[in-house]
Amino acid sequence: MKRSLLSEKIGQWVERNKAASAALASELVRIPSVNHPPYGNEAAYQSFFADRLRSIGAEVSQYELDTVPGLQEHPAYMKGRQYANRPNVHGKFSGTGGGRSLVFSGHADTVYEGVEPWEDGPFSGAIRDGKLFGRGSYDMKGGMAAALEAVRCLQELDIRLGGTVHIESVVDEEHGGANGTLAGRLMGINPDMAIIPEPTNLIPYPAHLGGGIWKAEFSGKSGIGFNGEELISALDATVSFAMLLQKFKKRLNELIQPHPLWSHTDRGIDVVVLTIVSGDTNRELQEKLPADGRLNFWIEGYPGMTDTQILDMLWEFYESELPNFPILAKCRPQVTPLIRYLSGSEMAKGEQTEQFLAAVRQAGAIALGQEPGPSQGSPFACDGFMFNLHSPTPALVLGPSGANAHAADEQMDLDSYYKLIRWFAEIMIDWCEAEGE
Ligand SMILES: [Zn+2]
Repeated sequence: MKRSLLSEKIGQWVERNKAASAALASELVRIPSVNHPPYGNEAAYQSFFADRLRSIGAEVSQYELDTVPGLQEHPAYMKGRQYANRPNVHGKFSGTGGGRSLVFSGHADTVYEGVEPWEDGPFSGAIRDGKLFGRGSYDMKGGMAAALEAVRCLQELDIRLGGTVHIESVVDEEHGGANGTLAGRLMGINPDMAIIPEPTNLIPYPAHLGGGIWKAEFSGKSGIGFNGEELISALDATVSFAMLLQKFKKRLNELIQPHPLWSHTDRGIDVVVLTIVSGDTNRELQEKLPADGRLNFWIEGYPGMTDTQILDMLWEFYESELPNFPILAKCRPQVTPLIRYLSGSEMAKGEQTEQFLAAVRQAGAIALGQEPGPSQGSPFACDGFMFNLHSPTPALVLGPSGANAHAADEQMDLDSYYKLIRWFAEIMIDWCEAEGE
C-alpha cells in the first residue's frame, strides 16, 4: 500500500475512533494509582493496563521489582521504597522480522490529588470542553492511552510491522522513583528506541532536565533572653537560607553554560523552595524564638551535571554570602537529600538517533498537518535518564498538550491526544517498517 494511502487510512481511523479513544484515557484516569512514598497503589491500574494490552494482542508479562535480578545492586537504584503488590507491566507486539524496534514507556503512578478543590473531583475522568480532567490525565495516562490506541489502530487496519513494538507501564516514577524504569531495562526490554509520552505539548524533547530535592535543617538557641544570653532564631536562619537560595538561582545560571537544547528559552535552571516549617506549629501562640527550622528545596541540572557539582557550587556561594546573611555563619544547616538525584540526560548522538528524530518529524508533519515545533530540552525532570544513561536505548520524550500537571483540575487537551495517536501510528510505520510499504 502506498504510504500516503496508509496515512489517509490512519487519519480516518483516528477520526472514527475519537469517542472510544477518549473513553479509554478517561477509564485510565478513573483508576487511582497514587504514589505515596515509600508505598504506591498502582496494582488495580496495572491489572487493567495488562488486560488492555492482552485485548489488543500483546504478549503480556507482569513482574514485581523485587524479583528483578541485579536491580537492588544497581548504582542507579534508589533504596527505601516498598514494592510489594506494585508490578511493572510489559506488553510485546512481535514484528514479522526486519524493521527496527521501539518501546513506549510510561509511569503508572501519579502524584496525590492534593488539598486544593477540584471542579469534578480528582479521579472523575470527566470529558468536557474538548478536555479530559483528572489526576494523571496529562501526566501521563493520556500519553500511554495514545500508545495503546496507536497500536490498536495499526492492528485494526491490518498493518503489520517488521520491527517489534513494546508498551511498558512502570511503577514508582514520581517523587524521584524511576526504579520501575530501571527494572524494565534490567529485564532486557532494550529495543532500538524509546518514546516516553510525558506531557510535552506535542514538541519532541530529545533531552530532559535533572534535579534533586534536599532538606536543610537548622537548630537555633531557643528561649527568651531574660539574662542577656545570646539566642539564635532558627526561623531567621531558615528564611535567610531561602533568600540565599533565590540569589543562588541567579548565580547558578551565570556559572553554567546553558545547554543548546534549552537555548529556545531564558528560563534557565530553577532553584525552588518547596516548604518552610519552623517553631512549634501545634500552638498558635508563641513567646519564644523558634528552636528549629526546616526547608526543603529543589535544584535542577542540565544533562551532564551531578548533584555533587551542584552542592559544591551552593556551598561556595553560601560562604561568599555570609556577610549578607550573618546569621547563617552562626546557624548552619544540615543538608540531606530527600530523593536520589534525577540526572538530566539526552539521547545518544549518532546516526541511529538522527534517523529516528527525522522519522519522528516526518510522522509529526502528517499527524499535525504542519511541521512540529523544533526539538527542545524538557522543562521538567523525568525517568528518561534510565534509558539514556543506563541502557543502550535512547529515549525521546513526546506527549500531549494540557495543563495543571501535579495541581488541581489537571487536564489533557483531547485534540492533541488524537493527534498524538496518529503521530505514534505514523512513527511505527516508518521506524518499525510496515510490511509491503
Ligand atoms: Zn510524569
